[in-house]
Amino acid sequence: MADHPTSPHYPIDETHDPSLESWVESANDPGTDFPIQNLPLCRFAPPGEWGLSDHLGVRIGDHVLDLSDVAYTVAIHSDSGGPAEAEIYEGENESQLLEEWSGPLGRRIRKRVQELLGTSIDAETRKKLESHLHDASECEFAPPATIHDYTDFYASLYHATSVGSMFRPDNPLLPNYKHIPIGYHGRASSVVASGTDIRRPVGQQAPAEDGGAPSFGPCKLFDYELEMGFVVGRGNELGETIDIADAEKHMLGLCLVNDWSARDLQKWEYQPLGPFLAKSFATTVSPYIVTMEALAPFRTAAFTRDAGDPSPLPYLTSEANSSAGGFDITLEVYLASEQMRTKGMDPLKISSGNFRDMYWTLAQMLTHHSSNGCNMQPGDLLASGTVSGKDKSSRGCLLELTWNGDAFASPPKLVPGTDRTPITLPTGEERKFLADGDEVIIKGFCEREGFRRIGFGECRGIVTPARTV
Ligand code: MN
Repeated sequence: MADHPTSPHYPIDETHDPSLESWVESANDPGTDFPIQNLPLCRFAPPGEWGLSDHLGVRIGDHVLDLSDVAYTVAIHSDSGGPAEAEIYEGENESQLLEEWSGPLGRRIRKRVQELLGTSIDAETRKKLESHLHDASECEFAPPATIHDYTDFYASLYHATSVGSMFRPDNPLLPNYKHIPIGYHGRASSVVASGTDIRRPVGQQAPAEDGGAPSFGPCKLFDYELEMGFVVGRGNELGETIDIADAEKHMLGLCLVNDWSARDLQKWEYQPLGPFLAKSFATTVSPYIVTMEALAPFRTAAFTRDAGDPSPLPYLTSEANSSAGGFDITLEVYLASEQMRTKGMDPLKISSGNFRDMYWTLAQMLTHHSSNGCNMQPGDLLASGTVSGKDKSSRGCLLELTWNGDAFASPPKLVPGTDRTPITLPTGEERKFLADGDEVIIKGFCEREGFRRIGFGECRGIVTPARTV
């Protein structure tokens, strides 16, 4: 175990003991995403309160423990000398909660919640807790934090190279790529919870031929992007920066992200200032923040750069980041058409990749983002960019999987390892891009010998028809 990478801020401890079990039986199922070693945070409305309330919860097996209730019923941490935990569970203090949770208090609460849900708890306490436990399938989930700002990076070298070679065949990778974690400011207002329908956007598309007039209508090349995001717990003051050595202390945890993308709108609008309306119509996040503590056993070294690649500048470099800045998270994308759902068919797995394949680490993204003095705030969402690996089976969007289909008048040149074969669904339907009624489902999980498997749940959304123009 000594040779396994670990973050200096998030050690492996007794809360990762694989032998721990819960009195919530479903949490002991070997296939669950939510054993007692995970305990991700969520915001939810219990049955009967959909659309009316916003509670803080912890997912355990098939259930959600309502922490806002529990805090008043059972002392979350009986011997705490810190702030009154019960107070920070009130909705109006969400920023404070996120800050506290990413610090030592979060660690104490993790231990205490694990104790409360563990098999050694006394019968009386267990009985009290049972009344605050809800069946997850009967709850309504919000995004896991109130997201104030959303930034999306572009941290996969494989994705950047593929997309670059389509749009700029002679110059696929711009000269800054290996020096700067490239990103753009996304739109926080349109970040939605998993399960929200996604309306096909309408927008301006390039002229069919050079010099012609552009058109305006429903997006024809509708795509998803498989991404991971992290939620900021502790922010920084305007004008201050976040040192790479401290960057992970500012992170609360990770969630799944689908950065829905309108490729035809993107192609026409993205130069010279980057994505705009091609992305801002919707971004879906999974309902759970899997905390940095829970992820401790699943850390990996940062991406190994090719011998000829430049080293990052000193402000983006640290020993800990190089040795343990990555995350070993398996990521999968599933697709189900309306016809498949009607016929009761299972969604089709269309790709499988791993988050360790990213060229830049999350710590480098956060450090770079704040390096000009830009202030991060609790609840900010920073997403990784499309997670793509080396092989075709690990490409994280349809643009790469079907090499842009043949949708453009002059489709991009194929490069070795690519082809324009559409995806064939079990109904015989073919897909180069998303059709109305298609559901995209992203899943993620971590596995390592000697530890309990933990997962992220699902990030899903169904494409609905565009509004009429
Ligand atoms: Mn993206």
